[in-house]
Amino acid sequence: KFGFSKGVSISRTSLAEIFTKGFSTQHGRKLEGKVALITGAASGIGKATATKFVNNGAKVVIADMQRQLGQDTAKELGSNAAFIACDVTKESDISNAVDFAISKFNQLDIMYNNAGVACNSPSSIVDLDLALFDRVMSINVRGVMAGIKHASRVMIPRRTGSILCTASVTGVIGGLSQHTYAVSKATVIGIVKTVASELRKYGIRVNCISPFAIPTPLVMEEMSRLYPGVDAQRLVEIVHNTGTLEGENCEAIDIANAALYLASEDAKYVNGHNLVVDGGFTSFKSLEFPAPDQVVC
Ligand code: NAD
Repeated sequence: KFGFSKGVSISRTSLAEIFTKGFSTQHGRKLEGKVALITGAASGIGKATATKFVNNGAKVVIADMQRQLGQDTAKELGSNAAFIACDVTKESDISNAVDFAISKFNQLDIMYNNAGVACNSPSSIVDLDLALFDRVMSINVRGVMAGIKHASRVMIPRRTGSILCTASVTGVIGGLSQHTYAVSKATVIGIVKTVASELRKYGIRVNCISPFAIPTPLVMEEMSRLYPGVDAQRLVEIVHNTGTLEGENCEAIDIANAALYLASEDAKYVNGHNLVVDGGFTSFKSLEFPAPDQVVC
């Protein structure tokens, strides 16, 4: 034990923890005293992140258009979570959700713009359904812009905050999804860069996460449409088999961990960044040459 002042002592283990983890983390709870608002938190990635944040000491507002599921999620997480019905296509809903976070928990430190939809859009640009394009953009892009706008409204006066968004690997390289979804996610990556360039002046960080395929309801719905009659377990396997990293699958918890990092003091100098969580999928393409004995001269 080391003595500091009268009556205060600290064990060797605790001292080692402080040197490796820093003074800011209290018992490893990285978001102690913070308040977060997460859109699309009734399900999938948003729910996994809400759980992670609450377990790390945060108070979390779950904003989603699925009322029952959102209320159930908040109940599961206990008194440090609260639900508000919110359709991100309605600016007034987002504005209310931000105000609700402040009236319920006194402040807003973290805004995670995660709500999003996939879509069954024709694959060729020639057949692009522009009405569907507008609908998807109104959720995946306009909803994110509205979230950032209203979070900034309350974060700028406090000159602090962390804003996160969910983009996708489909916005990083082409050819992974139909154009509509890919364009919406590439745009989120662009939004983060332009908004971070302004909000840096106020000490507010803006980052996004680009997940690889995870069998959440959003993906499973698409999979059921593509493979009618195939059971859910098999569909999960098909999704996981598209990954490149041997021995691991991309899961909602991986995105929750990335969100925890970006939201916390651990990422205090990370800004305007797109954190790709894809097991390396978008970083390389393997060259597969035929075996010498298969090449006929
Ligand atoms: P999910 O379907 O489990 O969750 C999406 C949530 O968003 C749902 O709870 C839904 O009710 C909510 N939502 C949809 N439209 C909304 C609206 N207008 N207003 C408020 N809430 C709304 O799916 P998920 O995979 O967890 O998706 C979360 C985010 O992750 C989305 O932005 C999605 O595009 C993105 N993403 C998912 C994957 C994946 O493979 N699952 C990969 C990359 C990116």
